[in-house]
Amino acid sequence: MDIIRKVFGYLPDGRAVDSFCLINDNRHSVTVLTLGGIIQSVQVPDCDGDLGEVILGCDCLSDYLSQHAYLGAIVGRYANRIAGGNLPIGRRSVQLDCNDGLHHLHGGKNGFSHRLWQPAFDVTENSVHLVLSLFSPDGDQHYPGTLQVKVTYQWNNDDELKLSYQAVTDQLTPVNLTNHSYFNLGHDNHCLNHQVQLFSDTWLPADKQGIPQGKMAEVCGTPMDLRQMTSIKEGLESLFGPIQKAGGFDHNWLIRGYDPQKKNHLLPVADVSESGSGRILQVYSTLPGVQFYTGNFLEGVSGRQGYNYPKHGGFCLETQFYPDSPHHPEFPSCWLKPGQIYDHKTCYRFGVKA
Ligand code: BGC
Repeated sequence: MDIIRKVFGYLPDGRAVDSFCLINDNRHSVTVLTLGGIIQSVQVPDCDGDLGEVILGCDCLSDYLSQHAYLGAIVGRYANRIAGGNLPIGRRSVQLDCNDGLHHLHGGKNGFSHRLWQPAFDVTENSVHLVLSLFSPDGDQHYPGTLQVKVTYQWNNDDELKLSYQAVTDQLTPVNLTNHSYFNLGHDNHCLNHQVQLFSDTWLPADKQGIPQGKMAEVCGTPMDLRQMTSIKEGLESLFGPIQKAGGFDHNWLIRGYDPQKKNHLLPVADVSESGSGRILQVYSTLPGVQFYTGNFLEGVSGRQGYNYPKHGGFCLETQFYPDSPHHPEFPSCWLKPGQIYDHKTCYRFGVKA
């Protein structure tokens, strides 16, 4: 177990952005930046034992600063959309930044993905931990209350990356933290040949701009039924209106078995496999939903070594509260009160097919 710290680059105001490479005993690694808590690289073996990259990313800071795809970043204070940027709090309402057409997306223009986080780390016999902390002041992007946030990245010898999110507040505020990594487990420059299984029987129909209409829908009998391993290509080729309108998958599924009373209970979210490389990915989370997004707006986004990603270059599995929850008291509550602790975990387990 090892951790290697380097300067990754300098922000325009002169502050250094560090990278931390978390290395397990098999030399498989995860690299995280203090900018936005970005997972910059994950290097794990394919079925021939060859180490390779499975996360989309950039190799210089300026490429991260010039893109809007949230590559690998922690997004918050509220991941996904809040309709009209309007945050109802008791009898008043707060107007958040509208940075996605008429709506608020991923915490606004200067959300957590764009911030410099404070690092601390620890190496034990069986895992290596990086803890990133962020102080978000009262009124940050117009959100009420100060929020102290901590994200722990734990990497172990079983190629498990465990992300733990914790936050406390001094005023009622919505909190929805996720990681926006795009995965590509194979050797193609697109993710179409991946097979995906989601452990979900229902999804959340949304309008053209990704705002849920309030009703949950059964996946049964539709191309949103990913309960068995399904190729992404097959899904994208379907003529199903919601997939056509979004240019691919960009929808929220409700995790089977979620129970708000069972805190810290990790449930299976997704299994993914890619036959060319033999790699697999399993995702578990304590959160009630997952936004499965197939990189529909990735075209032209800077990648490594001067390469630009194509549309569908990778896919995200963003574990989270449902989009626009502040307007839906019937959804699992995203509200954090003073004295409570926001405490959620998502685990990504990488491997190869047996
Ligand atoms: C959203 C997409 C959005 C993307 C931005 C995803 O979480 O669901 O609609 O375009 O983030 O990179």
